[in-house]
Amino acid sequence: MPKEVASLEHYKGETLFGHPEGTIAKSVLDRLRAVDQELSAKDYETLVVLNPSDGSERTRKKGETDEVKIDEETAARMRGSIMIHNHPRGTAPSLEDFMISLENRVLESHVYHSGGRYIMRFNPDMDVHAREVLRSAAQIAYSESKPIVDRKFLAGELGDHEAWHELMSRSWERTAEYVPELFTYTVESK
Ligand SMILES: [Zn+2]
Repeated sequence: MPKEVASLEHYKGETLFGHPEGTIAKSVLDRLRAVDQELSAKDYETLVVLNPSDGSERTRKKGETDEVKIDEETAARMRGSIMIHNHPRGTAPSLEDFMISLENRVLESHVYHSGGRYIMRFNPDMDVHAREVLRSAAQIAYSESKPIVDRKFLAGELGDHEAWHELMSRSWERTAEYVPELFTYTVESK
């Protein structure tokens, strides 16, 4: 782990699980910032998989407006990575984003959009059992959030996209409350 300490306002205080605060390589932060700038301006989804120790790109994949299809080769490169993709509509990470990240043992999953980003962090020391606990926590959080959001949607308080966004936001916040030692969820605005 490089010792160079970066202090960039946008990424201040950023930590990777298992790495002390302030010791993320400057090359990683620079790369994150460049990818952020690039992806948050796009109107279609793109997936970028970064090596967390030096910020180098393991692979990238161009997708459609609402999705990027993940093939086996791409999935294989995700293990232990920082996985980044964008949501042009600005919505929070989807259930599928979470599941793909968890299954492929991603360290951090970032979703960028023009107004900021969402970060899901996964404890890298999780074994099969811990991953199952986290998966269950997410499913419970989602099931609990769904009727609350559905009521607001049916009452006309939320539109389609707002409802979807609120459902996912609530789900990840709640998951992080249930198992904070396994998962954290951060929302950053620009
Ligand atoms: Zn997504």
